[in-house]
Amino acid sequence: AEQELIRAQRFESLALLAGGLSHDLRNLLQPLLLAGDTLEDYADDPRLARLGALVRDCGRRGLEMVSSMLSFARGARRAEQVKLGALLEALKLLLQGSVPRTVKMRVDVFDPDVAFEGNHTELQQCLLNLCLNAIQAMPNGGELVIETDLVSLPEDFFTEVEQPLPGRYLRLSVKDTGEGMSPEVLQRLFEPFFTTKAAGTGLGLLSCKRIVASHGGFMRVRSQVGEGTEFHLYLPLNAEDADHMDAQVLDASLQGE
Ligand code: ADP
Repeated sequence: AEQELIRAQRFESLALLAGGLSHDLRNLLQPLLLAGDTLEDYADDPRLARLGALVRDCGRRGLEMVSSMLSFARGARRAEQVKLGALLEALKLLLQGSVPRTVKMRVDVFDPDVAFEGNHTELQQCLLNLCLNAIQAMPNGGELVIETDLVSLPEDFFTEVEQPLPGRYLRLSVKDTGEGMSPEVLQRLFEPFFTTKAAGTGLGLLSCKRIVASHGGFMRVRSQVGEGTEFHLYLPLNAEDADHMDAQVLDASLQGE
């Protein structure tokens, strides 16, 4: 599990880097290709024309590599039915070797049969990042709580830049009772390569944000120095999933009474 965890994290970081790099490289290679092509067409000297063709071919080859790098960065992202119960079971398994004795972990799944459209591997990676951060924030022990619930959000919940989607959201929360964050850290949290750790990459939260955004969702953070930190992921549920879920939630609560 440890091995797979490290591999998954490396992959995410690499994908993130490849994505950024491909974009910049494409902007460099496109004019190069054009210049080579033009040189080949217009050069009077055949040696210059050959040089032009060489530049053009290298540019083209480079662009091909860039586009395959881009598709790697985007991942062969498969939309699938993610089952809440399975997602959190997989997470627990991956975390097994990483939770120290001093950290008490609680996982609270409101309904394991809830299913929604998304990508299991990506969400698992995202939750894993948050949990590992939480554990690292509790060097003297504490409590790690993973909670899930179903929420509907009022209009004024959203900031101006966010595009509020009407309807219901699945909320996944990762809470710790660790050292918390100062306002300065809170502000820079999602910056690429921002880290306060000696061996940190500063890419974990950025990749979480990327994953949640690719699911049409968003994140919220609350933190208090000395008290702890809460990360909330909000994933929109499409009407079909939500309707289905409504019934399940209702059933469950009826059974409980
Ligand atoms: P990394 O973990 O490699 O530093 P992240 O992007 O995951 O990169 O986190 C960036 C920074 O945010 C961390 O270095 C840490 O300062 C802060 N941070 C993230 N999660 C927590 C948490 N649960 N408690 C306290 N600080 C946190």
